[in-house]
Amino acid sequence: MRPFIYLKAYDPSAAAQALAAAGAGDNLLTDASIQPLAGGTTLIDLMKLDVMRPVTLVDINPLAAGWSQVSLEGDNLKLGALARMSDVADHPEVQQFYPVIAQSLKLAASPQLRNMATLGGNVLQRTRCTYFRDVSYANCNKRRPGSGCAAMDGFNRTHAVLGTSDWCIATYPGDFAQALIALDASVEILGKSGLRSMPFAQLHKPPGNSPQIETILQPGELISGFTITGRWPRSIYLKTRDRQSYEFALASAAVALDVQDGTVRDARVALGGVATVPWRALEAELLLKGRKLDDELARRVAEAALTGASASKHNGFKIDLGKRVVAHAVQRAAMMEI
Ligand code: FAD
Ligand code: SF4
Repeated sequence: MRPFIYLKAYDPSAAAQALAAAGAGDNLLTDASIQPLAGGTTLIDLMKLDVMRPVTLVDINPLAAGWSQVSLEGDNLKLGALARMSDVADHPEVQQFYPVIAQSLKLAASPQLRNMATLGGNVLQRTRCTYFRDVSYANCNKRRPGSGCAAMDGFNRTHAVLGTSDWCIATYPGDFAQALIALDASVEILGKSGLRSMPFAQLHKPPGNSPQIETILQPGELISGFTITGRWPRSIYLKTRDRQSYEFALASAAVALDVQDGTVRDARVALGGVATVPWRALEAELLLKGRKLDDELARRVAEAALTGASASKHNGFKIDLGKRVVAHAVQRAAMMEI
């Protein structure tokens, strides 16, 4: 591990100004010289692996007093970026009115990691592509732009089948982001010009020809929190993986339904483990709306959710697995007693 400077931020605006002035941002670029530090559960790993090489870390944990709320205000759920994954997963109102959020957090990582890791850090975690995380591979467009992609000719069993490009097929690894995107969350961002809010769905960028640029965050910008409008008690996060705990998704689905008298009035479907970014399945949602759910509709919804999927050499199984996860999640959500 390389030496680095450790600073603490006590004031949000001053932190954003300092980060911007120091040229943070290109935020997730491997060589960004200055990085915010939250729980450190993935940033420190990547520094030890020599994948990320910040010269300065700005510890934003002192901002937790203002940035770690978990509160339901009317029909608005407010989640601070520094709230710990375990605190949010265990929160009674989150469990009751947003089970998809509680489950997406609970099914991630391990209890120790969830006690340390924050929501902001979670949505900004980087891919688990083996070739990205192992610097002995020279060709990784995400780590070294223009160097090629070792995964395309290598072992790509865990890679993405949706949203890929000729430059990168790495899977977005997180779980919580799928719940956020399904529930139309907004994300609050603090930059040198102040606070702004935007749809969470716009935060992550598909790889295109610049896979090293993973989000729209501008230099120095910090995520301060997330807002979800409306309550979704009939919601679920279903995750399949190689082992039952401490493992990333091979395919997952976040589903939220509003069902009245057996008819689906509103539906949200998002996919994880199969795409390069948190993936909203709008065609699948349209199929559900205004209809009564049965096995045939669940099958069609699942087909629609994976529309456009394209496999590499070793990950073709994810297309079928993804469909089955979606069908199962939709059926389980419809059967929930609320
Ligand atoms: P940090 O490591 O502190 O930061 C991560 C990145 O986000 C850094 O680039 C940092 O600069 C930036 N950042 C942090 N906070 C902010 C902010 N507020 N504004 C702007 N930038 C910020 N995750 C899953 O979802 N599902 C899993 O199954 C899963 N399994 C795991 C298994 C293992 C063994 C490990 C080590 C991790 C696993 N994770 C999983 C990832 C884990 O959830 C993340 O490491 C964690 O959520 C990151 O949060 P953090 O606060 O520690 O982030
Ligand atoms: Fe790098 Fe993306 Fe290729 Fe993985 S899939 S080696 S992250 S360019």
